[in-house]
Amino acid sequence: MIDDAERKMQFLFALRSKGVTDTRVLTAMERIDRGAFVRGVFASRAYEDMPLPIACGQTISQPSVVALMTQALDVRPRDKVLEVGTGSGYQAAVLSQLARRVYTVERYRRLAQEAQQVFERLDLSNVTAIVGDGSHGLPEQAPFDRILVTAAAEDPPGPLLAQLREGGIMVLPVGQSDTVQHLIKVTRTPDGLDYEELRPVRFVPLVEGLGKE
Ligand code: SAM
Repeated sequence: MIDDAERKMQFLFALRSKGVTDTRVLTAMERIDRGAFVRGVFASRAYEDMPLPIACGQTISQPSVVALMTQALDVRPRDKVLEVGTGSGYQAAVLSQLARRVYTVERYRRLAQEAQQVFERLDLSNVTAIVGDGSHGLPEQAPFDRILVTAAAEDPPGPLLAQLREGGIMVLPVGQSDTVQHLIKVTRTPDGLDYEELRPVRFVPLVEGLGKE
């Protein structure tokens, strides 16, 4: 029988073996208990490196993917960050350890509300979950230093690009949901937008409009 400390060590070791080298990201991943964002029978599998089902037919991403996306985003302590696709709230909670302020937008009211409850339970006061169609971004809080999208679009949504501050970075999966998607890093430079392809990934699609639940 392995105890919590041993399980956490194995979890961090698995992240390192997948290429997560940024110690700030590893520390954030160590601090945020993924088990708090997973319910029912799946809670016992929270420290395995796999996606797990959550409410509304959605998923909490694989921890190594959360860590690698966070690493690619290169968040600095003064940054204001937008996440699109709250899901369980786990990714936003990890970002809250690295940024000044995090806003996360989710099209399912139920998921946004449940994530907000976990943020409050964990005393994460710099992260807020908002119900909305995140493909429009969050104009009332723009511009953002960093934007992370956790659902795949065919192309980077225009409103999100427009809400990225100069020097800002956006990381998002791009491609059709049933085919190969790629994780893309977009940097807004003084001369325009710079695109870098990072790795193949698989995410649920970015869907327009609000969810029914
Ligand atoms: N980041 C999440 C986490 O840490 O648990 C996992 C995200 S899950 C892979 C993708 C989420 O994006 C789903 O909860 C889905 O409902 C949401 N989503 C899809 N399209 C959206 C949109 N247009 N606006 C906001 N959320 C959206």
